Amino acid sequence: MSAIPYGRQDITDADVAAVEEVLRSDFLTQGPAVPRFEETIRAQTGAARAVAVNSATSALHLAYLALGLGPGDVVWTSPITFVATSNAAYYCGAEAAFIDVDPRSYNLDPTALEARLRAAREARERLPKIVTPVHFAGQSCDMVAIRRLADEFGFKVVEDASHAIGATYRGAAVGACVHSDIAVFSFHPVKIVTSGEGGVATTNDGRLADTMELLRSHGIVRNHNDQASEGAWHYDQRALGFNYRLTDICAALGASQLQRIDGYIAGRHAVRARYDAAFDGSLVTIPWQDPAGRSALHLYPVRVPADRRRRVFDTLRANEILANLHYIPVYRQPWYRERGFEQDLCPQAERYYAEAISLPMFPTLNEQDQRRVIEVTLAALDAGA
Ligand SMILES: *Cc1c(COP(=O)(O)O)cnc(C)c1O
Repeated sequence: MSAIPYGRQDITDADVAAVEEVLRSDFLTQGPAVPRFEETIRAQTGAARAVAVNSATSALHLAYLALGLGPGDVVWTSPITFVATSNAAYYCGAEAAFIDVDPRSYNLDPTALEARLRAAREARERLPKIVTPVHFAGQSCDMVAIRRLADEFGFKVVEDASHAIGATYRGAAVGACVHSDIAVFSFHPVKIVTSGEGGVATTNDGRLADTMELLRSHGIVRNHNDQASEGAWHYDQRALGFNYRLTDICAALGASQLQRIDGYIAGRHAVRARYDAAFDGSLVTIPWQDPAGRSALHLYPVRVPADRRRRVFDTLRANEILANLHYIPVYRQPWYRERGFEQDLCPQAERYYAEAISLPMFPTLNEQDQRRVIEVTLAALDAGA
């Protein structure tokens, strides 16, 4: 028996061929594969623009900068996310604050958001410049409610869609930016589709896209009018940008993988359906599927009674089933504690965290391995009953 990871990438001969083609070409970076990858993302999401960078973390940083985030500003987001979502606010000299999650979806709760916005306005406290809903486990947040609040309170919306490539919400692809300013995807190997490392920001706002493109490569502009007068060697650095470029090697892998996105999502739903059926009537709380959209099912986070969670988790690990936990509420991290965040800031996030386990979820999880996961989970739950 070999170990069963919680997520696993799927690399085909076509992926290898696509990467090899780049390796044998003239451009390992800054060549044609990056715009081709961006075109694939535009086709997948329906967004007007897609800006590829070397990680979702970089994409979040550039998205926040393009929206003008800076010192004195605050980003509000969910605590049930990877630390990068809020860290990127601090990269800009701004701060983060955390809004509690909905107890069913574990996504940022629009009711809690609204209450906090009204209280802040009442008390003449700082309102957020940006709110970043995180589509946890691949399921879209309630973007209609968040958009309504954005219009009333005047904040920008960045979707952290790192889990959600291939998901839909109210008939549109996540990343179409129907209800947001910018959406950000991750192509790290644990995610649904991978480019090795990589991230993309999508938007329908050409100026935001132009700014992100400028900042991903040192703030340098090459093709401009001065070139004729100064000479063909000339370039202008107009902003303090970064080297956040994606390589052509990575872009070719990402574009090749994206051709199989529909099959990947269908495969994840097949795995979900088998889990859902097996856990029916047990102490396992399965993840809720919001009828407003179709989850990309990056994760399969279940809940079990808090007093048995540790035993179930340890038993899975002892059986070489590499369950995981998404996530420790971000404000609990030592770096955030040092900045004054309280340990039990968000009650729903705490309740979820006390009970959560992410079971293996990837499209190539075979039925035999999945049965093992189910049997070990149920046996460990019952053992102390
Ligand atoms: C993975 C992830 C990120 C960071 O993605 P990278 O591409 O590794 O930088 C950000 N937010 C969420 C919710 C993630 O899951």
